[in-house]
Parts: sequence; C-alpha cells; structure tokens
Amino acid sequence: MDREARIFVAGHRGLVGSAIKRALEAQGYRQVLVKSRSELDLLDQRAVARFFAQERPEYVFLAAAKVGGIYANATYPADFLYQNVLIQTNVIHAAHRYGAKKLLFLGSSCIYPKLSPQPIREAYLLTGELEPTNEPYALAKIAGIKMCEAYHRQYGSDFLAVMPTNLYGPYDNFDPQTSHVLPALLRKFHEAKVADAAEVVVWGTGTPKREFLYVDDLADACVFLMKTYRHADIGPIVNIGTGTDLAISELAELIKGIVGFRGSIVFDASKPDGTPRKWLDVSRMEQLGWRASTTLAEGIRKTYDWYLAQQSAVRP
Ligand code: GDP
Repeated sequence: MDREARIFVAGHRGLVGSAIKRALEAQGYRQVLVKSRSELDLLDQRAVARFFAQERPEYVFLAAAKVGGIYANATYPADFLYQNVLIQTNVIHAAHRYGAKKLLFLGSSCIYPKLSPQPIREAYLLTGELEPTNEPYALAKIAGIKMCEAYHRQYGSDFLAVMPTNLYGPYDNFDPQTSHVLPALLRKFHEAKVADAAEVVVWGTGTPKREFLYVDDLADACVFLMKTYRHADIGPIVNIGTGTDLAISELAELIKGIVGFRGSIVFDASKPDGTPRKWLDVSRMEQLGWRASTTLAEGIRKTYDWYLAQQSAVRP
C-alpha cells in the first residue's frame, strides 16, 4: 500500500473508522477518502456504486455498521439486521465491481457460538447456536464474512475479515441506554462522582467475562494486515484481541478507581448478562507478529480524558 494509494474508510465518524483514519494519516497516507452520511448513504446501492465508479478506491476499510450494546441489540433487531446486511453488501460488491485491490471487513467476536469453548478459535465459527441478545447483528456479520470468502473463491478478490473483541476508546457512544458496557460505566461512574451519589447500578450479575481492546490498537492491527497480508495467507477470518479478559464486576471496580468514585456498586440482575464469556484466541495474530500494546487501565484513562475533554467542549 503506497503512500499515494486511494484508501476509502467507510464509517470514519465511528469508534473504529475514526481510529483507522487517525492511524493511516499518522503513517503518512495522503489520500484517505471519507464521506459523511449526508454525502454518501451506504444503504443506497446506486449511490455506493456511483461513488466507487468515480473515486475508484484501491483499498477499503469497511468499518461502517449499525452497532450498539446489549440493550440496543435487543430493542432494534430489525434495524441491526437490515442496515448491516445492506451496508456490507453494497460496499463489498462495489469494491469487487470497481476493482478495489483489497478490502478489510470489520466483524465482531459475537459471531461465535454463545457457548463456544474458550479461548475462541477462528475455526469455531458456525459450530453452535448464537447468543440471542445479539443474533441479528451476528447473523449480518456472518453474512459479510461469507461474502468476503465467496468473492475470494469465485473472483479471487483479496477481501479479509477481522473479528475484534469488545472495543472502546475515543468517539465511542456514551449513551446510557444504547452504548456498550465500558463507555456506559465510565459515564455512570463519572456522573455519580459529580453528583456525589451513593451508588452506581451495573446491569446483570457482574459475573460475565469480557475482553476489551483499545481502538487505536485495533486500527494498528487493521493497517498492519492491509499492508502485509492477503486472504490466501490468513484465511477467511482472524481474531484481534488482547488475550486477557475480566469479569464485569472487576471492570466496574477498575473504572470506579480510575474515575475516583467513592460510593458503592450495585448489580441489577433483572438486566441480561448476555454471553457468559467471549475470550478470543489471538494466537494467529501473534504468529503474524502483532500484539496489542495498550493496557486496559491505560486505555480507560485515555478514554476518560477524551470523554472529559468532550464534556468541557460542549459546555457553554
Ligand atoms: P455484549 O458484550 O454484546 O454483551 O455487550 P455489552 O457491552 O452491552 O454488555 C456486556 C456486559 O456488561 C453484559 O453482561 C451487560 O449486562 C453488562 N453491563 C453492565 N452494566 C452495563 C451497562 O450500563 N451498559 C451495558 N451496555 N452493559 C452493561
């Protein structure tokens, strides 16, 4: 991928796309193409085809998706299935039709079976039932993985698919209802500290375990794969994570300490736990020579700093 390559980052305003754009620009790539939703609606097949016909991107990072936490997935299953299937179908097909050299599709660790053996190897895809709370999202992502695989088989397209673990960092969604657990807890603990509240409510039992990857580490891995590997080298999917997970109760304690909240933590077991554990086997990425470099405490601190800076920027 030379410095003048035409690179399209789909979803550049989101958590992942914004980090990939930052990583590419920091590495000196000069032609990073981005389009806001009002300029290019990725749900519109004709508009996507027109964009690819005009701009002819050589490399495509497909980070655009409808995403959300456990509550959002359970509440908007139709939107998650419809929007994700359409976005990825439009972009993957246009990348093929207009001759993109390479495409990297962002999946998720929730595509694996709910009760998968741990740590989860890439080979466990489609070996068991999915977690019901995010089945529509997972099914859409599985269709995207299979599309990359099929286009490789039928047309020789160099389309890769990566499965990141739970991600967090700047530009994440901090909405208390629809966000994922880490930004949700950062905000809850921060607001409880400011209000001098007695307690913070954490959903579920606190026992499920999750693995968290700082989004700049994921972006680094994606650019590394795009520069170095072909579909034929890495196979249909590759996991990206840290190799370490922790219980939601431990995460809550860690965030509580970083934010400096002094009250107590209460678990609301009437809220769903979701998958008991989704710990990724990251040995394939390690064999390729890549490892995550940001510790969880460091990543949470950076995300908290970003959140505080945003808060003061929006205040009059
Ligand atoms: P998941 O990894 O797909 O299950 O997505 P989430 O990040 O939404 O949830 C991870 C775990 O954190 C689940 O067990 C949730 O019940 C738990 N959790 C605890 N408090 C919260 C919260 O305030 N928001 C969210 N989204 N999850 C929470």
